[in-house]
Amino acid sequence: MKRSEKRILLCLAHMSGNEMKYIQEAFATNWVVPLGPNVNGFEEDLAQFCSNGEKRVVALSAGTAAVHLALLACGVKAGDEVLVQSFTFCASANPVTYIGAKPVFVDSEKDTWNMDPELLEAAIIDRTEKTGQKPKAIVLVYLYGMPAKINEIVAVAKKYDIPLIEDAAEGLGSEYDGRVVGTFGQYGVLSFNGNKMITTSGGGALICPDDDAKGHIMYLATQARESYPYYQHTEIGFNYRMSNICAGIGRGQMTVLKEHIEHHRHIADIYREGFKDIDGITFHDETDDCMRSNFWLNTITLDEHLAVVGQEDVYQEMVKGAVGGAAGFVHESDNVHTDCEPNANVEAMRIFLDKANIESRPLWKPMHKQPVYKSSPAYTNGVSEELFRCGLCLPSGPCVTEEDARFIIAMVKEAIR
Ligand SMILES: *Cc1c(COP(=O)(O)O)cnc(C)c1O
Repeated sequence: MKRSEKRILLCLAHMSGNEMKYIQEAFATNWVVPLGPNVNGFEEDLAQFCSNGEKRVVALSAGTAAVHLALLACGVKAGDEVLVQSFTFCASANPVTYIGAKPVFVDSEKDTWNMDPELLEAAIIDRTEKTGQKPKAIVLVYLYGMPAKINEIVAVAKKYDIPLIEDAAEGLGSEYDGRVVGTFGQYGVLSFNGNKMITTSGGGALICPDDDAKGHIMYLATQARESYPYYQHTEIGFNYRMSNICAGIGRGQMTVLKEHIEHHRHIADIYREGFKDIDGITFHDETDDCMRSNFWLNTITLDEHLAVVGQEDVYQEMVKGAVGGAAGFVHESDNVHTDCEPNANVEAMRIFLDKANIESRPLWKPMHKQPVYKSSPAYTNGVSEELFRCGLCLPSGPCVTEEDARFIIAMVKEAIR
């Protein structure tokens, strides 16, 4: 069988802007601390890009830190409940538990794969009845960059007066109705991990409504110091600011962000066209004209009856190492099966592509099916579980060329019996 000479990865950041100039400036001026001209410049660039300067942005050490601080800023405390989209990466939910609060998971709708507004409302009513208290916040996610049914979600959040946190870690630059995601709710989370739309090698940011909110987030992100000549604390803070070096990379990356988004969308065009006529494969696409996805990761679903080469032999032995992740450290497991796993034809497709030197990965496993969250309440409709069983993420980043995308489509075809 054919094999790509280079490994085609899911999404690998690419240093194609003037990152070095900003890093060199930081060194030359000895700004090598978690504040300085690059941090300020990066925050301004982001606020401009996301909201034409209307909102404020705080640069942080990770997207996970941004979720954590957003929850605190919304007043979430130990014992409170927070509604979290179940179909997501664990970083949307874990900070809820850092606080000692309880995540309550809400399933997705079929169109955008993001939080189902009707189920969200049902969950709010039921939690309020059961606990006598309204949930304290809502964490909405833009999975794979796809805009959610944001108007409906905002309407529910407003109706029950619950703050909305948008986890736009995967959605930088995606738009709904011409407005960039992460700017619809109270707070918007961004991530600059090495595999996101742009990178700072590792980092994140929080989009804030105004100067006061930004000030409060900065205070919490820098160990919560009071205004004395010595260190005085009345609150517990965190060491979550972004370094001026990392922010330099971010400023350089901002100069190519629009190009990156166009590239991801161009690769999406090729996949859309290539998969259009293949029976049993569906490309996950925008479903209304108001949506403009950054297509951070392009994804497909495989009909369960689609026969794929080698599907009889999958799940025989444990995978070695992490599948499709930069953080290549995993705990050794003792069973090849879990009670919720991708269908055999999906795993066979992943292995087939892997042999062709193409990295692919199942969709995020819903949080309500994660053992660590087995006792958390969940409002489900079967959508995320079904998608997890039949979905696959395909290479999409700035290093994926047109030829790569065409080769991937050809290999997917070849894998079908
Ligand atoms: C990547 C990601 C995060 C966390 O970002 P980090 O910068 O890796 O901490 C949060 N939520 C979602 C949905 C993500 O994909």
